[in-house]
Amino acid sequence: MKKKITTIKVGPVRYQIRPHPISQDEDCTGRCHPARAIIEVDSRLPEDVYRQVLMHEICHAISFDRSLRLSEKNTDGLANAVIQVMRDNPALVKFILK
Ligand SMILES: [Zn+2]
Repeated sequence: MKKKITTIKVGPVRYQIRPHPISQDEDCTGRCHPARAIIEVDSRLPEDVYRQVLMHEICHAISFDRSLRLSEKNTDGLANAVIQVMRDNPALVKFILK
């Protein structure tokens, strides 16, 4: 796996991204803690799933920052759509980043 990202800024907050093995008992693979500025993602996940979970948690952070109150289903849908659009349109990502 390539070197993972360790920080991300969402609004005024710099989140620490912590790969973290989450207990098998828990039915979650990631967590977003806006008050602590920490995003945790299960480090044992396959690379594509890790990225998907990371984007999901980032969408939670965006939802918190912008008071969007996205549901879990909306957060998941948005995260998967953003990843798909970014992957399928690298020229668009490059254009936006200019
Ligand atoms: Zn979630």
